[in-house]
Amino acid sequence: MFKKIATVGNGAAGETTPSYADRATAKVDLAIDALAEAIAAADAIVVGAGAGLSTSSGLTYEGERFERLFGDFIERYGFHDMYSAGFHPYATLEEQWAYWSRYIWYNRYEPAPKDSYAKLLRLLGDKDFFVITTNVDHQFQRVGFPKERLFYTQGDYGLWQCSVPCHAKTYDNYATVKRMVEEQRDMHVPSELVPHCPVCGEPMGMNLRADDTFVEDEGWHEAALRYRSFIDAHTTGRMLFLELGVGANTPGIIKYPFWRSVFDNGDATYACINLGETYAPSEIRTRSILIDGDIDAVLDELLATTHTPCADGPVPAAI
Ligand SMILES: [Zn+2]
Repeated sequence: MFKKIATVGNGAAGETTPSYADRATAKVDLAIDALAEAIAAADAIVVGAGAGLSTSSGLTYEGERFERLFGDFIERYGFHDMYSAGFHPYATLEEQWAYWSRYIWYNRYEPAPKDSYAKLLRLLGDKDFFVITTNVDHQFQRVGFPKERLFYTQGDYGLWQCSVPCHAKTYDNYATVKRMVEEQRDMHVPSELVPHCPVCGEPMGMNLRADDTFVEDEGWHEAALRYRSFIDAHTTGRMLFLELGVGANTPGIIKYPFWRSVFDNGDATYACINLGETYAPSEIRTRSILIDGDIDAVLDELLATTHTPCADGPVPAAI
């Protein structure tokens, strides 16, 4: 069952019957079946999630959602997307935090428009799994993924740190951000809400890996250690490395290590779900399942797929 290979997106053009669209659909269906089987048969699963998963769950940073949430900032500055607007050199900290508090609130504390993360949790069921993610919106924890099975490598919108930083500690920002959103007027938060470091007095900043000032706090190191332990304990056996929405920006964190782990373990499978961007090196291609599609829709199909019990594996429960 691990020999199946199903990819789409590279078909030859010009064929008439069946249509390219039909063949692509058939290949996606085949790949989804293969992935459902691989999940059912896996001894353990490592999930690697990137920005594409949050985008698929409706946490989009441009277009209608951006215009609805930041219409006033767009009108004043002509911003095009939520991400780049975060780097604008605002004249005052009061205005900067008016922008950032809204940014944090709607991407970290409000539920995502779609329940893609919850679907993934249902799909994993009682499997032994671990999640590594470059996403900083903490949607995994929000839908109930156990914290001890998560490694957020790049930070958390929900944490602040000293901007210097003068010490390696992070601070939960929920209560202050909530007040900032509620009390901001004319795109400014009240001055008394602007956060300052309790140690050195400099402005607080986001705990995001944007440069070398990123604070890796105690929780970060503990999660890194747990992830490393999980990987080290699963170098053999039917491992599934499930990559969701990982782009090309930081391939060294998830994508390349996943390829390496699958290459090193002949019983491992690599699966990649991503819209418009799926690839596996030739060395592991026969053990790769590539699904070029919308992650949320693919999760729906996986949850609806009936599994064929595996001769040499556990009988999968209905999921
Ligand atoms: Zn400080």
